[in-house]
Parts: sequence; structure tokens; C-alpha cells
Amino acid sequence: MAYERLDKVLGHLGVGSRKEIHRLARAGLITINGKIVADAGFKFDPSQAHIEVAGEPLVYQKFFYLLLNKPAGYITSTKDPSGTPITALLPEEFWRNDWMPVGRLDKDTEGLLLLTTDGELLHRLTHPRWKVTKRYYVELASPATPEDVAVFAAGTLELEGEPLQPAELYLGPDPRKVELVLREGRFHQVKRMFAARGNQVTYLKRLAFGPLQLPPNLPPGASRQLTPDEIKALY
Ligand code: URA
Repeated sequence: MAYERLDKVLGHLGVGSRKEIHRLARAGLITINGKIVADAGFKFDPSQAHIEVAGEPLVYQKFFYLLLNKPAGYITSTKDPSGTPITALLPEEFWRNDWMPVGRLDKDTEGLLLLTTDGELLHRLTHPRWKVTKRYYVELASPATPEDVAVFAAGTLELEGEPLQPAELYLGPDPRKVELVLREGRFHQVKRMFAARGNQVTYLKRLAFGPLQLPPNLPPGASRQLTPDEIKALY
């Protein structure tokens, strides 16, 4: 059982600033298991308690998860006062200061970006050992070839002297528009793989990350919380 302070728990759940939470408590507006708790320093186990603020029940969540359809022009960073961090895209209801992006997309890359507050999950999903798949839609300056498919699949291509994991390249009816599935996430990997084949990526969008798919109805710049099933699939 992990006991935590009421002000910390309510801050974590986005109820308001520490000062606001203390004011709500003093005003008798916070109940735990039906009893008014006026002391915001009160310690309890939030995973076992029924909390209400001004009569509204709060659902306790230890960690938070967002799926963002990243548009081009944004940096995969949560703190970049001079640039355009992805967090600038989030609506107020999702504002928090502990979001961490799971992996990086380049400034000009679009598509699925997972944000979480769970550092251990982040570490696992980005560690090469777990070989989490990433699926990309790629537009190319020149048509991709069956040789590209074979070279990527063989895992013989090297970046900076290190071999890459086998990757699946899918050629569609137009071989300038392909899909690529990777099991690692090196810096600029998709662009560098095609550059190593004498080609150039002109547009890049991530369609899937592990079990998560980019929802077709989520426009660029929009975000939503993961569903309980999506969260379960990540663990
Ligand atoms: N590979 C790239 O080259 N860029 C990305 O943003 C993601 C994968």
C-alpha cells in the first residue's frame, strides 16, 4: 500500500495547483470515502479510495498515456521554449509537466507519437532488446526496388558500422509510396536507410508503434487518451 499526500494525488490527477487544492480542502469540498478531508496534507492510499471534489468523483490513474498525431513542424520535445514542442499541440485538459515522448519523430515527420508519464514503460518500449515494431508510410524521390526489399530484410545494411535489424519493406502498386517496418529506432533511421540505397525520403509518417495504430479519424495535431485495451496491450 502506497500512502500519498492528498495535495500530491489531486495535483497528479490535474485538479489544480497546490494552492487551489488546499483552498478546496479548507472549504470542505473534498471527500475521501464519503468523509470530508479538510487537511490537504492527509495521507492515504489513492488506489483504494473513492475521492470526490465538489461532488464529482475522480478516477485515480497512476500513469497517463496520450496518442498524438504529430504534424510536421513540431519538435519531439516537451520543453523547447524557442521552438515548437509537441506539447504546444495539447488541449488544456491534457496539460501536465511530466509527459515523456516514447521515441522521437523528426521535425518534418508526421504520425503516431505516444506520450506517457510512466518512465519504466518508456524505457522498455524504446530499448532495442524488446524490438518493438514501428511501421512507417514512406514517399520516395525514386521508386524502391526488390533489391531494397532484399537488402533491408537481410539485416546486412550498416549504419555507422553497426548492422541493422532485418526490416520489412512493402512495395505497393506505386513503388515511390512504400511501407517499412522497423524493430529499432536509430536516429533518422528511415531516411538514412534509403539514403544508403541511393534514394531520398520526401515524406514520412508513422502508422503504428508496437500494438498501437494511428487512428484514421485522428487529424494531424489532434491527440486522445489511450483506451484501456490499448494500455493493456503495451504492458
Ligand atoms: N526515421 C526517420 O528518418 N525519421 C523519423 O522521424 C523516424 C524514423
